[in-house]
Amino acid sequence: MKAVVFEEHGGPDVLSYTDIPDPEPKPFEVLIEVRAAGANFNDIWARRGMPGMKVIFPHVAGSDVAGVVRAVGSDVGGTGFGSSPVKVGDEVVVHPGLSCRTCEMCTSGQEFFCRQFLIWGFQTGPNNGGHSELVTLPAVNVLPKPSNLTFEEAASMPLVLETAWRMLVTRARIQAGEHVLIWGGVGGLGVMAIQICRLFGAIPIPVVGGAGKVAKAQELGAEHVIDRSSEDVGARVREITRKVGADVVFEHSGQDTWPTSMAAMRWGGRLVVCGASTGFEALTDLRFLWNKQQNLLGSHLASKAELAAALRAVEAGHIKPVIDHVFPLREVGKAQQLMEDLKVQGKLVYVP
Ligand SMILES: [Zn+2]
Repeated sequence: MKAVVFEEHGGPDVLSYTDIPDPEPKPFEVLIEVRAAGANFNDIWARRGMPGMKVIFPHVAGSDVAGVVRAVGSDVGGTGFGSSPVKVGDEVVVHPGLSCRTCEMCTSGQEFFCRQFLIWGFQTGPNNGGHSELVTLPAVNVLPKPSNLTFEEAASMPLVLETAWRMLVTRARIQAGEHVLIWGGVGGLGVMAIQICRLFGAIPIPVVGGAGKVAKAQELGAEHVIDRSSEDVGARVREITRKVGADVVFEHSGQDTWPTSMAAMRWGGRLVVCGASTGFEALTDLRFLWNKQQNLLGSHLASKAELAAALRAVEAGHIKPVIDHVFPLREVGKAQQLMEDLKVQGKLVYVP
C-alpha cells in the first residue's frame, strides 16, 4: 500500500510517499480501507520532534480516519456476550485514544488516565497511522460514521471535535450566556469550539488574524470576533464583556497568548488548555491567580463516550465540518507547510 512515511525528524522534505507492506489485523483489531484522513498539528509535532515524546520510526502520522472496514480479527464480530459489533463493510470513523481497556481508569470511562494511554497515529508505530491506504486499530476504537457526512467531512472531525468537546463541555462546563474566549478561532479546534459554544447557548469570542478569518468566524455564528492583527485582544474582551472578563478561556497556543488569557479571564473564571503551539513555558503571576480565584484546567483528547456524544450532535446537524481544502495523500508535505504558515481555515483532509 501507499503511505506517507518518515524515518527522521525535520522539515516537510523528510516525508516520503512510498510503498510499505499492508497491515494485518490482530485478533482484536479491524482493518480499515482509508477513504479520507485528517491533518492535525500533532502530525507536525511528530515530524519535527517534541521534547519528551518518543516517535517510533519508520513513522506514518495521522490520527483521524474515515473509511470502510475490510477485515476483522478473529475476536471481532458475532453477537455473543463481549463481542464487538463491528463488521466488514461498516463505514466508520476512528477514536484515536488507545488504552488497555481493563484498568480502573479505563473501566471508569477515564481512559486518558490509563498508564498505557497513547494517541494512535502520533505515539504509535512503526508504520501505523492514518496517512496511508490501510490501517489497523482495536475494534473498540471505531464508531459509526455520521450518516449525513461524506468521508472527507467525517475524517476532518474526530480529534478536534472530541478535544474541544471535552475542554468545553466536560472540563469547563460551559453554561448558557457565558462568554468564551477562543484562541485560533478559525483553526481546526476553533471552528469546533465556536459551534459547541453555540450549541450550549454560550457566547463565543473567537480571536483570529486577518479580515478573511473574521468573515469565516462570523459565518460559523460568532457575533463578536476579535482580529488580533488590528485589535487589542484584552481591550476588546473588556468591551464585549462590559469589563467583567471572559467566563471561560479556550487555550491551545500557550506561551505567546497566556498572559493575555490570564488577564482576560474574569474573577472566578476558568481557563482550559489542551496544547501549547507557541511554547510550553507560560508565565503565571500567582498574585492574580489567588486574588481572582481563577481556575486552570488541563484537558487531553477525550473518552470514546465523549466522542460518541459529540458525533450525535454532528449527526443532528448542530455541529458541521469545516474543510479548507482536500489534498491527494502524496501532498501531505505541502499541506503541513500551509498549516505551519497559519494559512488554513478549518481543516485539511487527505484522500489516498
Ligand atoms: Zn487502562
